[in-house]
Amino acid sequence: MKLFAILLLSGLITGCRGNSSYSLPPKLLLVSFDGFRADYLQNYEFPHLQNFIQDGVLVEHVNNVFITKTFPNHYSIVTGLYEENHGIVANSMYDAITKKHFSDIEDKDPSWWNEAVPIWVTNQLQENRSSAAAMWPGTDVSIHNTTPSYFMNYSSLVSFEERLNNITTWLSNSNPPVTFATLYWEEPDASGHKYGPEDKENMRRVLKEIDDHIGNLVYKLKMLGLWENLNVIITSDHGMTQCPKDRLINLDLCIDHSHYTLIDLTPVAAILPKLNKTDVYNKLKTCSPHMSVYLKEDIPARFHYQHNNRIQPIILVADEGWTIVLNKSSPKLGDHGYDNSLPSMHPFLAAHGPAFHKGYKHSSINIVDIYPMMCHILGLKPHPNNGTLGRTKCLLVDQWCINLPEAIGIVIGALFILTTLTCLIIIMQHRLSVPHPFARLQLQEDDDDPLIG
Ligand SMILES: [Zn+2]
Repeated sequence: MKLFAILLLSGLITGCRGNSSYSLPPKLLLVSFDGFRADYLQNYEFPHLQNFIQDGVLVEHVNNVFITKTFPNHYSIVTGLYEENHGIVANSMYDAITKKHFSDIEDKDPSWWNEAVPIWVTNQLQENRSSAAAMWPGTDVSIHNTTPSYFMNYSSLVSFEERLNNITTWLSNSNPPVTFATLYWEEPDASGHKYGPEDKENMRRVLKEIDDHIGNLVYKLKMLGLWENLNVIITSDHGMTQCPKDRLINLDLCIDHSHYTLIDLTPVAAILPKLNKTDVYNKLKTCSPHMSVYLKEDIPARFHYQHNNRIQPIILVADEGWTIVLNKSSPKLGDHGYDNSLPSMHPFLAAHGPAFHKGYKHSSINIVDIYPMMCHILGLKPHPNNGTLGRTKCLLVDQWCINLPEAIGIVIGALFILTTLTCLIIIMQHRLSVPHPFARLQLQEDDDDPLIG
């Protein structure tokens, strides 16, 4: 009874606390450091990021989507869709039906983005809420006739500090309040391409700068009184792998350039044949043992990369570390875009705030699972998507989740209780079956009864 009263009381207290926090709408800041490979966390030092994780959650690997490029994966994070479903299937695209071209520097035509609805649009359609963005791909485009209320036109020249200042200002002083915000930074992707991820010295310097940015972000949020009530997700779009200079696949040695239009080059080349598709395919098929060549209809189902007009009739997928070139192109020392099952292509995810557990580590989620999780945190109804909220339940304080060690603990605990109860019952039964001295005495008295009578 006492226990019941305590449980009831604690339930009431939790309920009251819940109600008071729900009077403020939940807020979420989504941060991406482009090209932050998952194992950088193990191989380099991140004191500020580790503090953030210690008080929040860490997902060690995020299974991203194919092709493992920047625009496609950033759009999957905010829509929960595979590339074939959201339509941003590469950083360079061509639509054979509309005859339009898209590139990451010429991306303002909304028709490329309108196959999906990103979370900042959905958030803004809610009463009394607005969204803000410091340069997430697509946030300066009028998608479904909507941009975030506050946004910056993309320019790589704008410093991290300026982006951070804008975001924190918008999160502090806007009406209706900004409840969803994004912050994007080009590193460590740019340096990963330039030096390659195995250049420890240069990468250590760049990754220290990123950790300092994270330190500044947390400091600023604390100074402005935003830290306690804000949910912050820090993640990325893809990893990076080393590309040795001699691992080149030169298409010009296999096929005359006049036979096809090259839409995208490496490590996934998108080929639009000009005349005979089979002829082009056969020439490319035997071009290199370090590259897979697929007709669109034969692209493996696990890539979820087939059902869209913007995916070209032939795609070439280089093996990890190999670079597809034309005679004239100069290769990079690091690259991404490869098969999304490669661990080197995976980013990580860390999160902190009232919606998240503290000090919890999780092995992996899919990049498309981030969207339903964000919708849940913000109380938004998600659009149909390829993600699953269930895969992120263990990260969230308001969800019941059971992981393997806990499950084993519960089973062992239950077995222990059952065994103890069984033993107690056996002992009790044993005691009851032993004749009691008083019972014998009683029997004797009974025996005496007739004499007394
Ligand atoms: Zn990227």
